[in-house]
Amino acid sequence: MHVILLGPPGAGKGTQAVSIAEKAGIPHISTGDMFRTALKHGTPLGLEAKKYMDAGELVPDDVVVAMVRERIQKPDCAKGFLLDGFPRTIVQAEKLDEMLVQAGLTIDRVLNLECSAATVLKRLTGRRVCKACGAIFHVTNMPSKQAGVCDACNGVLYQRDDDKEDTILNRLEVYNRQTAGLIDHYRRRALLTDINADVPREETLAQMMVLIRA
Ligand code: AMP
Repeated sequence: MHVILLGPPGAGKGTQAVSIAEKAGIPHISTGDMFRTALKHGTPLGLEAKKYMDAGELVPDDVVVAMVRERIQKPDCAKGFLLDGFPRTIVQAEKLDEMLVQAGLTIDRVLNLECSAATVLKRLTGRRVCKACGAIFHVTNMPSKQAGVCDACNGVLYQRDDDKEDTILNRLEVYNRQTAGLIDHYRRRALLTDINADVPREETLAQMMVLIRA
């Protein structure tokens, strides 16, 4: 099963992807997480990506595509994968198609998380992420048991630099300008289903699992 999650930053893709991937038994591939991990390790890729991430801009297509090409060839992707945050441009979508065709594979579903700007802003400004394991929390919607400490590994929770209000507004603008066009791209191919992500996350997850299991 090869699934793509679309939706603006703050629609809940990351949180939902973790649950779906676990239930469906496929790896969760988040390009944003891959860049953050590279940055944590101070690799050239991470340092290159940081310039764009801090501004809420997209990392150049060739850099992201090369990273995803390598990732989806790993053995854990043999049964499929869940892509979160990729593709983000038409060029990336076309490159993904090429990679899959070469491997004799196809995209099974594209789930488009729809969410209002007000919800996005509230979710992102309250989001906290574990520095050690990447687990996601929210100061009011999904608080950790102890403030600032990860429930899963006791790591320190932090606010992503790009979750500050100014950068969020730019990320939304970038999404509308560069990524929203993908919705038509996949709708035309009858692969896309709209999902209401303005409701509590359990409801959103239930809507998606019905489709994944169908
Ligand atoms: P995310 O965690 O998906 O919100 O991604 C965080 C940041 O990583 C984005 O704002 C971009 O700067 C960068 N990024 C992640 N995925 C991509 C992608 N597919 N194309 C370009 N930049 C990306």
